[in-house]
Amino acid sequence: MPSEIASQNEELTLHCPSCGEEKFGIVPMAGKNGERFVKIHCHNCGEHLLFQAPEIQEILSQPGITQENWETEQIRSLQLEWEEWLKWKQRHLNKPESSKPLLTKYAQWLLAILLVGSVMFFVLDRWHLLDPLVENPESRQQQIMEYSERLLEVPCFPSILKVKIRTVPIRYTRERPVHKNWIQYGEAGVYWGEEQIKIHRSNFWFFGQPKESQLVNTLVHELRHRANPDLGHNPKFMELVEKDTVCALKHL
Ligand SMILES: [Zn+2]
Ligand SMILES: [Zn+2]
Repeated sequence: MPSEIASQNEELTLHCPSCGEEKFGIVPMAGKNGERFVKIHCHNCGEHLLFQAPEIQEILSQPGITQENWETEQIRSLQLEWEEWLKWKQRHLNKPESSKPLLTKYAQWLLAILLVGSVMFFVLDRWHLLDPLVENPESRQQQIMEYSERLLEVPCFPSILKVKIRTVPIRYTRERPVHKNWIQYGEAGVYWGEEQIKIHRSNFWFFGQPKESQLVNTLVHELRHRANPDLGHNPKFMELVEKDTVCALKHL
């Protein structure tokens, strides 16, 4: 007998369909024509349900409802109603929140564009390492020579470097760069007794477009090595290369 009561009590408990809380605030309300409404709201999460309180007589007239079980049935149906209501709300009322994913959608697109952009940049920048077939060594050699000859015309360009342009062979090479830097310049055969200047693929973009500032910097750098091999890569050397590169780029 006691266990029966216990199970009955268990059935009798209404719980919040959202968080499971069993304590509620209850607000009775009256409609225009005397209808009685009840608003219950969860103490814990604020989830609430408004329902019309049925008349006892009406309840008892329903099939299967007796004096003994009407309360249990009421709670059972209230529980169901509340759960349905919560589900309905979750389906329909949360719609405005979909404007948030819309915003992040823009962010996602932005991110995607950024990613694709950097991948493209990387591919185009490194393409020359992947495929020797897309390049035309002769036209690159020619471009290098054009740049060197234009350097001869630049008034602020040091004459000691102009001499080197005339006397040191400058050639385009598809050899693997010896330099350990990620971006390879024309480094620097002068260190192992090679007088000629090698300009590597990394001085060109895909489709053979020269990376002008890098190409000019490479030329200046290598010419300076030949003019003053004793400087190595010391600060004086860097300063000279920087100055002459700026001068050259301004006048080219
Ligand atoms: Zn709750
Ligand atoms: Zn160097």
